[in-house]
Amino acid sequence: MTPEIYLSSPHLGELELQYVQEAFSSNWIAPLGPHVDGFEQELCAATETGYAAALSSGTAALHLALVLLGVGSGDEVLCQSFTFAASANPIIYQGANPVFIDSETSTWNMCPDTLETALKDRIARGKRPKAVIVVHLYGMPARMAEIMDICERYELPLIEDAAEALGSSYRGKPCGSWGKLAVLSFNGNKIITTSGGGALLSNDEALVEKARFLATQARDPAPHYQHSVVGYNYRMSNVCAAIGRGQLAVLETRVAQRRANFDQYVERLNALPGVGFQPEPTGFFSNRWLTCITIDPALSDGVTREDIRLALAEQRIEARPLWKPMHQQPVFARAPFYGSGVSEQLFENGLCIPSGSNLTAGQLSKISACIEETFSLPQDEHLPSETA
Ligand SMILES: *Cc1c(COP(=O)(O)O)cnc(C)c1O
Repeated sequence: MTPEIYLSSPHLGELELQYVQEAFSSNWIAPLGPHVDGFEQELCAATETGYAAALSSGTAALHLALVLLGVGSGDEVLCQSFTFAASANPIIYQGANPVFIDSETSTWNMCPDTLETALKDRIARGKRPKAVIVVHLYGMPARMAEIMDICERYELPLIEDAAEALGSSYRGKPCGSWGKLAVLSFNGNKIITTSGGGALLSNDEALVEKARFLATQARDPAPHYQHSVVGYNYRMSNVCAAIGRGQLAVLETRVAQRRANFDQYVERLNALPGVGFQPEPTGFFSNRWLTCITIDPALSDGVTREDIRLALAEQRIEARPLWKPMHQQPVFARAPFYGSGVSEQLFENGLCIPSGSNLTAGQLSKISACIEETFSLPQDEHLPSETA
């Protein structure tokens, strides 16, 4: 059954169509073109970074980041475990090995202490990791001061997976501007979309230039087709960039709308027994891409995350468990993991609820009411496993 209310659906406006029409009438559909240049410049301004390469996806951007850092066969890359698989898959594309790091409870992102423990242990085992991938999950910045400090002390390049965090900032500095390289995604469910796309950001001009070169099949400067290294077809088209420019123009409004959704959910649901929300410590500013709730089974009168998810599904409201950690995924079963159960707990008890910037007040109210009702059901109407 298709949902009536989606978790996060595209939200388009007037400006996108105007830019796309311009791309059509000038016959600049592809490849590249003036909207790509414009979009890159506007992304730099929005993220306070020096250089941006517009690409075909966030995954492609992560892959190129690893290529640029020289990650290759047999290398180890330290990666946040609590994330979407696209954060880790490119490590495998390079023939390298992921080492997964658990989260901490104040942001749900990479735990700096665990990162350092893992680093010491990998080095003691004679394996010096080549890079660190930190993720700003659901738009919440990771503890960047501590993580940057560790990366600097160990002279490790940091890649920021800011795919979910465009418009977020930490200590006033945007997500995407902290790492040696950073990645954005404009997939259909992200805070802004180009239908599909991504970007690689850096303050290092040479790195971004090289990314553009690699993303367009690594063509050497010659009149014929000549290649000295293996390239990729990872560039963004001018039409997609046109959509992106229109979307980027309303980013601030989209962030405000998503944050307002979050505030409304807190107001309606915070008093329910055992219900919690992703925290936002002082100095952290999340775009609140998705509102995430947790249900503490010790306090919730027998109501579980699954009870709520199924009750919402019955009313054709899409909700999803939080990301299943990478160290629990069959595909990464053999990867080393450092942690203490934080991300496992979040996966067990957490739920993403509809968070689109185009949700109506009526829809928000319907979703909250459905969750409230789950709590007012008599105990024995919950899932059998909870009544035993
Ligand atoms: C969406 C996402 C990606 C991948 O971006 P695509 O544009 O879909 O390839 C990577 N990491 C995280 C955390 C994401 O949410």
